[in-house]
Amino acid sequence: MQFRDLQQQYRHLKADIDRAVSEVMASGAFIMGEPVTTLEEELARYVGVKHCVTCANGTDALTLALKVLGIGKGDVVFVPDFTFFASAEVVAEEGATPIFVDVDPKTFNISPCSLEAAIERVREDLALRPRAIIAVDLFGLPADFKALRTIAKTYNLTIIEDGAQGFGGLIPGEKRRACGYGDIGTTSFFPAKPLGCYGDGGALFTDNDEWAATLRSLRLHGKGSNKYDNVRIGMNSRLDTLQAAILRVKLKAFADHELADVNRIAEYYTQLIEGTTRFSRKEVQVIPPFIPKGYTSSWAQYTVRLTVPSGNGTINRDALQAKLKAKGIPTMVYYPIPMSHQTAFRNIHKYLHTPNAEMLAGSVLSLPMHPYLTREEARTIVEALVSSL
Ligand SMILES: *Cc1c(COP(=O)(O)O)cnc(C)c1O
Repeated sequence: MQFRDLQQQYRHLKADIDRAVSEVMASGAFIMGEPVTTLEEELARYVGVKHCVTCANGTDALTLALKVLGIGKGDVVFVPDFTFFASAEVVAEEGATPIFVDVDPKTFNISPCSLEAAIERVREDLALRPRAIIAVDLFGLPADFKALRTIAKTYNLTIIEDGAQGFGGLIPGEKRRACGYGDIGTTSFFPAKPLGCYGDGGALFTDNDEWAATLRSLRLHGKGSNKYDNVRIGMNSRLDTLQAAILRVKLKAFADHELADVNRIAEYYTQLIEGTTRFSRKEVQVIPPFIPKGYTSSWAQYTVRLTVPSGNGTINRDALQAKLKAKGIPTMVYYPIPMSHQTAFRNIHKYLHTPNAEMLAGSVLSLPMHPYLTREEARTIVEALVSSL
């Protein structure tokens, strides 16, 4: 059994992917070929925004978002403490200061309440200018953008949606999909993400015409009227034509059935976990992921929480993972260390404690998850998990 079975997906899509790849090989247009433009149009339409600008990876997408907003030295960007390192790394790389905000213990996403407290604290420091919020759609669940927009408006902050894991997600009552909920959104096409290519890739989404035009310049060495007229300092960050052609096939499968399939399997997983834990007298409880009413997750990860109800016992997560591995079941810990505890950020001022991020880092476990996972496999996994506790 695989954690995310990409080969099985390839077997399903092989004929179309092989044809798309051969066409690019025959065309010779490996950089910025026609599939790149077509994919950008298709992605913008799917998300429901005016512009999509592809780039080399999800980290570059975040960097490009910060560059287009002119964020740098003296600026503060609020980042959830429980996320993948890149969400915070890019802020420091641009010379700005990431301030780590605690997350909601149920959704795992940035807590609007903690965010407001962090903003108030930072405002006392006159040397720092609060500029933006990076809201991550962790494990595929869109963040609480309704609450975040209210805060952003109050404090005049820009919302950058890090939708690397969120592509395809939905908030009830919104006209768009995830990556379209911020002022500017980013995603990653790393192979294991909800929509992945066969290498590195990324994209930005926005309704802002001026930002979109600047992003198209920034990703090509700050080009002006042509490649050798450089009007700003930019990057070399393009999506390969081959990856764009592969992504066009994968986007169709994603929209046609994969997103629905992965949601069906997630629902089944949750049913199984709720069923087994209700009747078990085990010390350790398995808490399935929480999805607020009406929300759709893209299930980048299916992450449970392991808790000891009596309070003072500890969970040997390493031993549990080893037992599951011996039964042929791969699991992962996303993420074992909060951002504020990372060595690379040891010199960054910690304004507030982040107890929820610490609690999650110590208690989460991600189970195998992908659209081609069968009900039988889900049953095997949950049975093995419960019997290994
Ligand atoms: C994967 C990921 C990124 C970075 O994407 P890459 O394509 O690997 O550079 C950024 N943010 C989050 C939340 C991610 O999961």
